[in-house]
Amino acid sequence: MGWLKWFREIHKGDVGIAGGKGANLGELYNANFPIPPGFIVSADAYKEFISLLGIDKEINKKLEGLDVEDSDELDKVSEDIKELFMKADVPSNFVTIISNAYKNLQLDSGQLEGINHKALELVKAGRDLPFVAVRSSATAEDLPEASFAGQQSTFLNIKGSDNLIEAVKGCWASLFTPRAIYYREKNNFPHNKVAIAVIVQQMVDSIVSGVMFSVNPATSDESQIVIEGAFGLGESVVGGELSPNEYILDKQTGKLVDKKQSKQEWMYTRDYTTGKTVKKKIPQEKWYNEKLSADMLKLLWSLAVRVEKHYGCAQDMEWAFDRNRLYLVQSRPVTTLKKHEDVKEIEMPTGEPILTGLGASPGGASGPVKIILSPHELSNVKKGDVMVTKMTNPDMVPAMQRAVAIVTDEGGVTSHAAIVSREMGTPCIVGTEKATSVLHDGQIITVNGSKGEVYEGSVEVEPAQELEEPVEIIPTNIKVKVVIDLPDYAERAARQKPDGVGLLRLEGIIASGQKHPAQFMREGDYDGYVDLIADGIRKIAKVFEGKPVWVRTSDIRSDEFRNIKGGEQEPEEANPMMGWHGIRRSLDEPQILKAEFEAIKRVNDEGYDKVGVMLPQIISADEVKEAKKVYDEVGLNCEFGVMIETPGAALTIEKICDVGIDFISFGTNDLTQFTLGVDRNNSKVQKLYSEMHPAILREIAHVIKTCRAKGVKTSICGQAGSKPEMAKFLVKEGITSISASPDAVQTVRKVVAKEENEAQSEF
Ligand code: PEP
Ligand code: MG
Repeated sequence: MGWLKWFREIHKGDVGIAGGKGANLGELYNANFPIPPGFIVSADAYKEFISLLGIDKEINKKLEGLDVEDSDELDKVSEDIKELFMKADVPSNFVTIISNAYKNLQLDSGQLEGINHKALELVKAGRDLPFVAVRSSATAEDLPEASFAGQQSTFLNIKGSDNLIEAVKGCWASLFTPRAIYYREKNNFPHNKVAIAVIVQQMVDSIVSGVMFSVNPATSDESQIVIEGAFGLGESVVGGELSPNEYILDKQTGKLVDKKQSKQEWMYTRDYTTGKTVKKKIPQEKWYNEKLSADMLKLLWSLAVRVEKHYGCAQDMEWAFDRNRLYLVQSRPVTTLKKHEDVKEIEMPTGEPILTGLGASPGGASGPVKIILSPHELSNVKKGDVMVTKMTNPDMVPAMQRAVAIVTDEGGVTSHAAIVSREMGTPCIVGTEKATSVLHDGQIITVNGSKGEVYEGSVEVEPAQELEEPVEIIPTNIKVKVVIDLPDYAERAARQKPDGVGLLRLEGIIASGQKHPAQFMREGDYDGYVDLIADGIRKIAKVFEGKPVWVRTSDIRSDEFRNIKGGEQEPEEANPMMGWHGIRRSLDEPQILKAEFEAIKRVNDEGYDKVGVMLPQIISADEVKEAKKVYDEVGLNCEFGVMIETPGAALTIEKICDVGIDFISFGTNDLTQFTLGVDRNNSKVQKLYSEMHPAILREIAHVIKTCRAKGVKTSICGQAGSKPEMAKFLVKEGITSISASPDAVQTVRKVVAKEENEAQSEF
């Protein structure tokens, strides 16, 4: 019977038995690469198990008529199927086969050669059982296994036959995670055509581990090998949870060409008392310790060269050193070379940068400088110029659209220039403090928006940063949406296949009309304002038809729109950030609010009926109540939410929910500045501006918890939603959706998918 196969019995063609990952491990094991010993509970075992116990029929029944778009129903069905597996009694012949193999695992490894008789007896008696990693390896007829990669569970540091059987069942059940079910439904792939093998492999007690590429994935340079390593278990590097050290070697000679040292404050390791995988702090004096000695690098180099030779193509490998030796844990061909927009090296003119600031929108561009010191000069910006100004305002957007790059004196990464540039895909540097004084009109410069550096001279670079379209949409329970303010860029954002628009700021549309909302009202042109807003929203809603689009009512600071018609009549405020804008202003001028609600209603009535509305700068439940009256008056009936941008809102969330709202959305750009008292636009204090500050995380956690209890959906639309570390935190806290800037949608989707996946495995 083919229920169990040792690695030595498996070769690369055995995908149907061992799944893709398992077949590869067998191949490498047989080619004498240092693979930790192990065996495979085959796909046939899985098939036999489900048919023997009738689980297959039960599964079919549960999946029949399932609406995968209903995430509650999907979760419930997935949970029920998991229970079918976990509650099932594994037939005793299965148990015997698996546990015997487990007990013999070390014997198969050949590692016990020369071991004394007594130790051998101990192993056989099961008294010194090994720790194993239990990994899923899915297989599907007619479908490349790669499509399933990373969707199923892994269990590390498993010890004892009973725990092993549970882990195997856990892997089997993970063929039916909500994500896996969703994925197959969306790809019209029959659920009964997939099976799953389980890899049981001796754990490597990693001292240092990581990944390795036999080609430089950033530059595609085939003469180099790139090694990334960190202390402890490799999961931290593979999952991108921490920055590893990076070593670049010459493939021919093995010589170290370049090295990047990173700080490492923690690692994953096995807790010796519980046997579980834990996150352990590294003492401060060791944060910068060398991770790989020259000898270790040499071993890795030789391994990379040999594995590449074996397969005849560039490889992406996972490796680990324990106290004694180097292991290869996985190898797969490098199919798509990694393209990180943010870290991609952009060619720059030679020499030192002449100016630095905060990299606010990635990419590179060259062109002549055009310094803008007053709004009257905006028309001087010609197509292809690098626009240099103190700080941009919404009324500068048309000129910004003509620029190949933007450089500002002031601002942080949530400032207007940064937000709009990212949306347009224009390289941008903010907070240089002196761009308008050190650069001069007509000077040819090159801007590196990824690194925040300006160089003298020009190079041939692609002017606009075009985003790669996702090759595959990883289905996630938590929706990943996009932030979009400019109708002209909606198509570009939509190509990232977001699950909707989590924030549509009206300011972009207002700027395009070049007239202040208050001016429309002063002129008695209420309808003109409704038309302008409805036309803008419609353009975006059309592009995202069928998906929710949350429009925020206007939030215009008095210093932002001075240069459009009527803007000069805005009050001079000493501190506009904390002044008359957002809902407080809208309630003082309810005609403006009413017109915006009416515009949404019009678009919804036209059939784009997923447009919702949210209110900015809320500080109390009373404001929500008052705004709701206007909403009712207009007869608007759509998803209704509020932004959480102030501690006032975060700490009174319960009362706000009680007014009756459908959702909240964290505006972390403002929430951070108001919680920390750090001006988001002041470059002098940007070093203190951190959305990951514990106070903000506490506010977020509190709001999510309260909203969950009240049945209110939670989301984020501040720039922090584009950051992997924040996305990770939010998934753990149980947020309903995350909105990112267009360039970050794919990354965030991957982070969410990974977190959801891990939440289901017992890593
Ligand atoms: C925020 O404050 O996080 C937000 C999304 O709004 P804005 O950036 O427009 O202030
Ligand atoms: Mg805000």
